Amino acid sequence: MSEPIADDLPFLTALRRDLHAHPELGFEEERTAGIVARLLEEAGIAVHRGLGGTGVVGTLRAGSGTRAIGLRADMDALAMPETADRPYKSKFAGRMHACGHDGHTTLLIGAARALAKSRNFSGTVHFIFQPAEEGLGGARRMVEDGLFRLFRCDAVYGLHNMPGLDPDEIAVVEGPQLASSDSWHVTLRGMGTHGAKPHLGRDPITAAGTFLAALQTIVGRVVDPLQPAVVSACSVQAGNPKALNVIPDMVEIGGTARAYSPQVRDQLEEEIGRLAQGTAAMFALGAEYRFQRRIPPVVNHPDATSRALGAARDVFGDKVRTAFPPSTAGDDFAFFGQQAPACYVWLGNGPAVDGALHHNTAYDFNDASIGPGVRFWTRLVERELAG
Ligand SMILES: [Zn+2]
Ligand SMILES: [Zn+2]
Repeated sequence: MSEPIADDLPFLTALRRDLHAHPELGFEEERTAGIVARLLEEAGIAVHRGLGGTGVVGTLRAGSGTRAIGLRADMDALAMPETADRPYKSKFAGRMHACGHDGHTTLLIGAARALAKSRNFSGTVHFIFQPAEEGLGGARRMVEDGLFRLFRCDAVYGLHNMPGLDPDEIAVVEGPQLASSDSWHVTLRGMGTHGAKPHLGRDPITAAGTFLAALQTIVGRVVDPLQPAVVSACSVQAGNPKALNVIPDMVEIGGTARAYSPQVRDQLEEEIGRLAQGTAAMFALGAEYRFQRRIPPVVNHPDATSRALGAARDVFGDKVRTAFPPSTAGDDFAFFGQQAPACYVWLGNGPAVDGALHHNTAYDFNDASIGPGVRFWTRLVERELAG
């Protein structure tokens, strides 16, 4: 679109590689947040630090427009080793930017620098740099710390890199993008007894077998077949392999539940509990049930999506995808989407190098995506805040 972005690419590429070499885990992004804050300030952007722990918000106003929007980048890395050899490989054992958040941070800095120069819009844009996206609840902390009270947003946008799409491709799709991600825990309590005398106790292990066999009937028989849902038992704890003549008192089962709509999410919560209580009643056991709501689904709002689509078409032309399968992973950007009409887009990261996908020890953000990503954010602001 504009030359200044092309001129800034060497700087942004060096920044991306520096962030990659210095990954920081959730709520520990001190160095990253410091760099972000300094670069925003140098660009003449008002900076608010320490929101949600290490979160940073930059605010840029231009013209007389009253509309305000938020753009989100996540800054955290993962607690895992980097195995690929590259000049900017992680300097820290057991920490790695394996989800490309080094790229997300760079793109938003690039857009902030470009927009601070051009001021080719009328309104307010908040550049939201979020800590701790990877399971630690950074988005929720920012919301609880008053993100949307302090920085009103009439719409909010998120972006994630996506291997398999080319760097000059972007997917902008209305509706569900990422699933809700919740945990559940069931405890079946019986009465322990000698393994040879089951009639003198109440066996929770046999009951657990019935419960686990019935669990998949929730997705198979209860949820609308046209609505995606996942229920998985991922942990079963009972007894002791060294005491094979003992029927234990209790069995603890835990797992995950995923859905793309609030209705199905509610349904999963209710049905897993019903099966747990029903199984307990069947075998004269006690049951305790806990459903822990972690992250809601990310669902793109029609109005925000059409605005993002307009910007994407300006930058990517006919390389915009309007159909793309949602992911069963989660992103806590969903908490921002509960506060304002939201759209979350997938920016191409090129082919998966050596098969490395997100959270793989060889994953890397593709620097060829920096230009397209910065142009998308910049164009989105110009269109969204056209005055
Ligand atoms: Zn991730
Ligand atoms: Zn990610």
